[in-house]
Amino acid sequence: MQFTHFMTRTEDGAIHCNACQWRCVLRPGEVGRCLMRKGGDEGIIPINHGLISAATVSPIEEFRLWHFFPDSMVLAVGGWGYNFPVDQQRGAYAHIPQEPGKQRTLPAEKAATFALKQLCRGVIWAYSEPSVSPEYVLDLLKTSRAASRYTALVTTGFLTVEILNKLGPYLHGISLDVRGFGDVEYERLAGVPKWRGILGFAALARERWKCHIEVTTRMHPGVNDDPDHLRQMVDWIRQKLGSQTPWHVLPGDAGSQAAAAVNRARRIGHEGGLLFVYGPEPNQVTRCPACQSTLITRENGVSRLIGLDNGRCANCGFEVDLYLSIWRKKN
Ligand code: SF4
Repeated sequence: MQFTHFMTRTEDGAIHCNACQWRCVLRPGEVGRCLMRKGGDEGIIPINHGLISAATVSPIEEFRLWHFFPDSMVLAVGGWGYNFPVDQQRGAYAHIPQEPGKQRTLPAEKAATFALKQLCRGVIWAYSEPSVSPEYVLDLLKTSRAASRYTALVTTGFLTVEILNKLGPYLHGISLDVRGFGDVEYERLAGVPKWRGILGFAALARERWKCHIEVTTRMHPGVNDDPDHLRQMVDWIRQKLGSQTPWHVLPGDAGSQAAAAVNRARRIGHEGGLLFVYGPEPNQVTRCPACQSTLITRENGVSRLIGLDNGRCANCGFEVDLYLSIWRKKN
């Protein structure tokens, strides 16, 4: 690929990248904040196109999608590039390695075929941020859907609406990383002053494209554990994504303070009406919110649906919002 379609030229001749919410203006020779897109005379060149940083076969649960095709194996693919200046989680994939032989390519069609051969039910874009590789991600989702695989993204949600609307017809699930619920949190943990577009992205993915969404928040004591902000986040999840949206609350730092912050946040999640709040401990089960019967067990990386009957709690009939079919999008 030479030039991307995901750009706009304004009347003054400037070229705007439309891939992520930074919307960089790139003149010839300039690179965007992600370091993966370069301005040329005719348009914007994605430097990272087709290059992959990792491709693994793993249980889907590893990507914090626990109510989405439970116990299925997924081909996880990642590229290069990240667009949060401050990042503790995916900084390892921020730069394309320059050493000879370290730049690997994987055409999207090959990835989908490989997923099929490995008996993976789906394909997920993980490791690097999908918003800085939208051309490849779109190809990957299309070819995977054509091979009857489910598709998902792990993302910070910093994609633009234009990109989401391109991906939406082929996208089933999103593991969404929400850093906090305030300007200071996003400034400190992501280096992003304008973060509320992330909320708009998620709400649109849910409402328009019926994507299954699970939210993950890593707790950093003194940074993103303000109880009022957490209550606002919980309210937003419940109102915009639904009370059955799983919320994964994990420690962002080592130590007892982070563990205590996780416990406080989980309590706020329950009190705020979220029906499925998960923490960091291994082998967590999913219980019916109505009668507390066990619905899904997870043990040593293996999940089992044991208390469900046609999508309902086998004991009390509560309808559980699980995503189990690529043919049926959620309402
Ligand atoms: S993808 Fe890169 S170049 Fe495009 S707007 Fe985002 S940071 Fe800027």
